[in-house]
Amino acid sequence: MLDKREQILSFVIPVKDEEATVSILAEEIINVVKKLDKNYTSEIIFIDDGSTDNSWNIIKDLSEKYKNIVYGIALRRNFGKSIALEAGFRNATGDIIFTMDADLQDDPLEIPRFVEALESGYDLVSGWKVNRLDPPSKTIPSKIFNKVTSFLTKVPLHDFNCGYKAYKAKVIKSLRLYGELHRYIPVLAHDLGFKVGEISVTHHPRRHGKSKFGIERYVRGFLDLLTVLATTRWLLKPGHLFGGIGLLLGCLGGGILVYLTALWFLGGGPIGDRPLLIFGVLFSLISIQMISLGIIAEFFIRVKNPREVSELISKFTRD
Ligand code: UDP
Ligand code: MG
Repeated sequence: MLDKREQILSFVIPVKDEEATVSILAEEIINVVKKLDKNYTSEIIFIDDGSTDNSWNIIKDLSEKYKNIVYGIALRRNFGKSIALEAGFRNATGDIIFTMDADLQDDPLEIPRFVEALESGYDLVSGWKVNRLDPPSKTIPSKIFNKVTSFLTKVPLHDFNCGYKAYKAKVIKSLRLYGELHRYIPVLAHDLGFKVGEISVTHHPRRHGKSKFGIERYVRGFLDLLTVLATTRWLLKPGHLFGGIGLLLGCLGGGILVYLTALWFLGGGPIGDRPLLIFGVLFSLISIQMISLGIIAEFFIRVKNPREVSELISKFTRD
């Protein structure tokens, strides 16, 4: 439970070429947090993800002007949103941690509703851009992406990709982001047993600068989905993933080979030139490979990494 002492709201905001909006955003956040009836203070962490415009200078000026409120972290080059968020998370000291985009598409006026949702018992609250004001080339693939992701992961969200989210600090402490896994934070958190919720948020069109993501994000997103599915469901039992595929292929290949052998014995003619034979052999071989891969993976977690495994299990436990 959140108690009533003074609480820090940290805002972790990745910035790639957003010179037109960072200072307006910082001021809006500070004003909204000031107006909250409870005892909240804000901490705004801008992570400059290799901007080539004037963003970093503006962030530095802001951190002078709003000492102890605005902080800046500069990455040496453009590492991508996940790494930028991770850098911000490592430095966030708040009880509640927000992520927001820097382009003013996310409205700071929604902050109180996020806080309310967290106080009602959620560990992570994700924004849902019900009326998303982006071109159809973005919204349509996004709809498909969200449907498939929620179906496969069983996490009932409508908008995984929304950059506007709020977390209790313990969620952030349990996550490690890399690659482009920021899209799957709710899935990773849900897998760790945290309570994940959703609120609708107003979404503004991008008025300044350009979007940094195109359609290729969904291709990469689906590859990441495979990683997330594999590592959330089978992290501690990889033998079941690979072994499962292996057994399936083994049954198929074995069945084919038994069938062909029976045919040959019963005088059904030569089988050496039948394509089915190739499939039978192929499936059987891949099956053995998959099962061996599963066993190696099991060795790997049992023998190589006992400490990591126990660290992982400690993340599953309540405090
Ligand atoms: N961003 C970033 N690094 C990148 C790409 C984007 O830090 O490599 C930031 C960007 O400045 C913005 C947020 O991530 O604050 C979301 O990016 P964008 O608005 O381009 O995404 P969209 O709204 O089009 O989904
Ligand atoms: Mg945007």
